[in-house]
Amino acid sequence: MKPLTEQEIRTAFVNCTKGEARRLSVPRDLAERPWDDLDYLGWRDPRAPHRAYLVTELDGQPRALALRCPSPAPTQPRRGMCSMCLTSPTGGVSLMVAPRAGRAGQQGNTVGTYMCSDLACSLYVRGKKDAGAGARLHESLTVGEKIQRTVANVAAFIATVTA
Ligand SMILES: [Zn+2]
Repeated sequence: MKPLTEQEIRTAFVNCTKGEARRLSVPRDLAERPWDDLDYLGWRDPRAPHRAYLVTELDGQPRALALRCPSPAPTQPRRGMCSMCLTSPTGGVSLMVAPRAGRAGQQGNTVGTYMCSDLACSLYVRGKKDAGAGARLHESLTVGEKIQRTVANVAAFIATVTA
C-alpha cells in the first residue's frame, strides 16, 4: 500500500470519535514500515496492549479501525486461524473486537474477528515473516491470489464495521 502519514492515519478512523483518533497511539517509525509489502498496517498501543489499530486503503481512501483485544497476552498463544490471512501463526491469533461505526457503536455494538496477534498478516502471506511449522494450509493459490484474498477479507471486515 501507499505510505501514509500520521495525519492521514488519524483522520482515517471510522469507528472512534475525532478526539480519540487525535489521542490514540500511532507508530513513530512510519517512514521505516515496509509499506510495499503491507495490505494493511496494524499495530498495538505499546502503553495499552489490549488496544490495536489497523489502517488500509479502500477505493483509494485510507480507512482505519480501532480494535480491542480482550486477552492481550495469553501465556498459551491461541493457535487458531486468522480470519484475514488464513494463517495459524505460532504467535497465536487474538479476538479483535471493533466497535461499530456511528450510533450503533455508541450503543455498544461491536464486531469481532480472529486475527494474527501481531497483526502481521501481510508478511505471513508474502513469506516475509516465518509463521512457524504447519502454520499455512497447503493451497494451490499464488501469492498474488492470497494477497487478494487477504485484502478482500480486510475490506469485508471494515464494511461490516461501517454497515
Ligand atoms: Zn493474519
